[in-house]
Amino acid sequence: MTDCLFCKIVSGEVPAKVVRESARTVAFRDINPQAPTHVLVIPREHHSTVAELAAADADVLAEVLREAHQVAVDEGIAESGYRVVFNTGPQAGQTVFHVHAHVLGGRGLNWPPG
Ligand code: C5P
Repeated sequence: MTDCLFCKIVSGEVPAKVVRESARTVAFRDINPQAPTHVLVIPREHHSTVAELAAADADVLAEVLREAHQVAVDEGIAESGYRVVFNTGPQAGQTVFHVHAHVLGGRGLNWPPG
């Protein structure tokens, strides 16, 4: 999609600190980290929300989740615990409408979230 920021990260048009890549996903550090580890995992193909991705291609959603876990392993937070979040829709705080899994960890995380 021409005007999508995360599509531009996939194509390399917008720079990002990429930490992992797979055939159908890219993982990069969040520009405004909310925890010591804060990485976003996105599908290369454009889908607006996790619900749209689940309906369109459940295999790619599974790959996003596998990559999210692998990010946690690489960052050394898989054992202590980490959180995977898909903000979905404006009221949940979604600001970029290219589905992304936030992988957060490296500190104690509050529950319930704000
Ligand atoms: O869930 P939400 O849509 O709010 O998340 C978007 C995330 O994308 C934010 O955490 C923001 O910091 C991040 N971002 C980024 N690089 C950009 C623009 C936004 O990591 N160039």
